[in-house]
Amino acid sequence: MKSQHIMERGSAVIMPTYARFPIVFDHGEGCELTDADGKTYLDFTAGIAVNCLGYHHPALTAALSDQAKKMLHVSNLYWHEPMVQAAEKLTRLSGLDQVFMCNSGAEANEAAMKLARIYAKHEKAKEAVEIIAMDHSFHGRTYAAITATGQPKYQKDLDPLMPAIRHVPFNDIDALKAAVSPRTAAILLEPIQGEGGIHPADPDYLTEVRALCDAQNIVLIFDEVQCGIGRTGTFFAYQGYGIKPDIVCFAKGVAGGVPMGGIIASEQVSRYFVPGTHASTFGAGPLATAAANVVLDIVGDPKFLDEVKNKGDTLRERLLALKAKGDVITDVRGLGLMQGIELTCEAGPVVNRAMDNGLLLVGAGKNVIRFVPPLIISEADIDRGVAILEQSLG
Ligand SMILES: *Cc1c(COP(=O)(O)O)cnc(C)c1O
Repeated sequence: MKSQHIMERGSAVIMPTYARFPIVFDHGEGCELTDADGKTYLDFTAGIAVNCLGYHHPALTAALSDQAKKMLHVSNLYWHEPMVQAAEKLTRLSGLDQVFMCNSGAEANEAAMKLARIYAKHEKAKEAVEIIAMDHSFHGRTYAAITATGQPKYQKDLDPLMPAIRHVPFNDIDALKAAVSPRTAAILLEPIQGEGGIHPADPDYLTEVRALCDAQNIVLIFDEVQCGIGRTGTFFAYQGYGIKPDIVCFAKGVAGGVPMGGIIASEQVSRYFVPGTHASTFGAGPLATAAANVVLDIVGDPKFLDEVKNKGDTLRERLLALKAKGDVITDVRGLGLMQGIELTCEAGPVVNRAMDNGLLLVGAGKNVIRFVPPLIISEADIDRGVAILEQSLG
């Protein structure tokens, strides 16, 4: 088989940092992916919350090919219109003031932590350098981002980690208050923890965190790399909670599959990024921002977001019905099209059986399965996917 040959060649020359599933994908259409041997899968992972418009979306393909004919890259020494348009859309959709664009979620978190520290040095005190992050969080694989990540399994053998980043339990306001001091520059959290097992923040908790940050001049950073860009049925998840951070980090879905990330901040904070403080060669490039302009127009439309909310409700109802049927599922958690089920067994074998049955799923920790399908998924495909899941629970 063609796939087998490609995997053997890959194993010889690619560093084995991923325990890849034995599938070689060739192309996709809508919410389906087809492998090199012609087998088709329904995709409930969407490149882990990246392919929000699915595969081969006509508007996205057209925008990319048009932009490729004009110019692929131009340095940040100069301006171009697609980046300005993308920044205008991002500020309007977020209710924040200024954007810095880079290429990934980890880089977005790096930018946010740098900006927060610079702000705190000027606006608080020279010693205000500490960043408080959450247990079970995930912020990416670069050094500061992996230090902020509250999961020791990802930090093995990497010490010494970055200084002045500490962790507290998520959704525990007393623990957070006890950890805050005049040294605190920023609090960093995911409104819905993704990789850590799909754990939404309690609304009261987020409200209290916002008040704490206001009272003590602490920069509140929301990492919405996974839960942002329409995933939960509002453009950013914080909009569903009715509070606003000082900096929001985005990436994954923003350009529909083209690498892009960034931060949006309030003017109060963003004004500390001035010439020389931060940069990225590829950041805000014409190709990525041309793609983002399509995604932001489609996903930012209130009607589209309402549909995400409705489809999320459908997915959630189907999962709750499945939970009621047996005793394998112990919890259903999430918001919109970011849902997770906790199992009494390990997630891995269920994910593998679903794959054999033609459904792509991804775990989030040992016994949680995460559902982050393309945002364009139909109700019929939600039903089809949940039926395959049921058949795969064993
Ligand atoms: C995926 C993810 C990141 C890291 O993004 P990369 O693009 O892989 O660097 C950071 N934060 C959250 C919440 C994520 O889900």
